[in-house]
Amino acid sequence: MQQIRSHESVWQEFLEIIKDRVPLMTYNTWFMPIKPISLDNNRLTIQLHDPFLYEYLEDKYNRVINRSLVEVLGSGAKLVYEYSDNLNKNSQTDEEESRSVEEPKNGNGATSSKILLELPEIKQISFDDTGLDPRYTFDTFIKGAGNQLARAAAIAISENPGNTSFNPLFIYGGVGLGKTHLIHAVGNAIYANHRSKSVLYTSSDRFTSEFVENIQNRKVAEFSSKYRNLDVLIIDDIQFLTGKPGTIELFFNIFNSLYHDGKQIILTSDRPAKELKDLDERLTSRFSWGLPVDIQPPDFETRMAILNKKAERYNLQLTNEMIEYMASHVKSNVRELEGCLLKILAQMTLTNVDLNIELVKMCVKDISSTRIVNISVDSITKIVCDFLGVDEKKIRDKTRKSDIARARQICMYLTKSMTKLTLKMIGLHFGGRDHSTVLHACAEIEKEISSSQKTKELIEDIKRRIELTCT
Ligand code: ADP
Ligand code: MG
Repeated sequence: MQQIRSHESVWQEFLEIIKDRVPLMTYNTWFMPIKPISLDNNRLTIQLHDPFLYEYLEDKYNRVINRSLVEVLGSGAKLVYEYSDNLNKNSQTDEEESRSVEEPKNGNGATSSKILLELPEIKQISFDDTGLDPRYTFDTFIKGAGNQLARAAAIAISENPGNTSFNPLFIYGGVGLGKTHLIHAVGNAIYANHRSKSVLYTSSDRFTSEFVENIQNRKVAEFSSKYRNLDVLIIDDIQFLTGKPGTIELFFNIFNSLYHDGKQIILTSDRPAKELKDLDERLTSRFSWGLPVDIQPPDFETRMAILNKKAERYNLQLTNEMIEYMASHVKSNVRELEGCLLKILAQMTLTNVDLNIELVKMCVKDISSTRIVNISVDSITKIVCDFLGVDEKKIRDKTRKSDIARARQICMYLTKSMTKLTLKMIGLHFGGRDHSTVLHACAEIEKEISSSQKTKELIEDIKRRIELTCT
């Protein structure tokens, strides 16, 4: 994302933005004749042809200039005005001109002055503050039958945020199918093409923890207004907002305010809105105000296309046979396809083996078990405790308090089904219990899952969360 930019190009970008923000007369008379001189990090020096101009600009357009410059150069941008009264003398080159600034009285007896305008920090505008990942763009997103509608909706929004029938845009579908990629792509495109729009990407987890932090610092109003002032709000994995009333209430208000102002809202979820049972129904019904779109797992052709494109990016010379083998064995999602390519790359670099079909087969075989290997008993415990609101330390104690004991059983059950740990090892992890206790816990939870829909859903939710966090 970071590329070297010239003062001319920065100034040009600045002009394009400011043109829409000041009267045309002002733009033509005052802004057009200004010459950019140099760019030093995010310090842009411009040359004024009239000393009066400095006062005029500062007086009338200080805010809009600052804001626009920060949009081009990021927070901390500084604008330096330079005026020299021998500007019209042709004897000096631009370079000499700038140098003369260091010495207010130059050899020609001409006066020059340099005025530094300190820009106040303006939040949410520099790219770093958007939360967007520049790697996820439309260019790198492969179109296929499963994601066609979601992709089309995302593109339509990026061209006309807030003004399509996709407001809110609600994208749902399973893990690793490209939801996060797609919503970053929308954000990146809006950031690139509509500089005046403020965009923010966040996950519902981050939203929640930011909210809690702001409650503690008594800054909820500030937090809320930051969100209400956005043009585009993107929240990933909205299913994790469930069960947190304070956060949900605030999000509800922000949602209404943005929607009312015609601002674009983009959300993803791992399931359709009506299945977000723990979320307030006032909210889930609003999610369907726009056209909800789902993403389905990629079909064979799309898997082939994705593999081809990614192999090219990693500079892997795969034969058709290899690609076909992978595409027909790794079916569930794109993340696993990527994982497979990375595995091949890692094997080739670490063990110096040649790329051949045997290596590909081995990596494909490994890929389903890697997922399990990455999941640790600690992360399972942490996620279960988060979900159930139980103190993590108590899980390893002897306590038999019923909520702790149940959480512990769920941890044991999930550790058994999601890791390769033996019953004995699991018992050791949870306070040195023996293997029959673990077996009993697994049987209890299994029984509960088959008799109670609620438990079944709870366990599925926790599992999904673990998979999402650990893979
Ligand atoms: P989700 O948010 O649905 O769980 P992600 O957006 O995180 O899925 O996608 C997982 C990985 O797969 C990411 O690295 C992403 O770039 C890649 N990916 C998913 N779909 C596509 C696609 N259609 N084209 C290219 N890459 C994709
Ligand atoms: Mg995601």
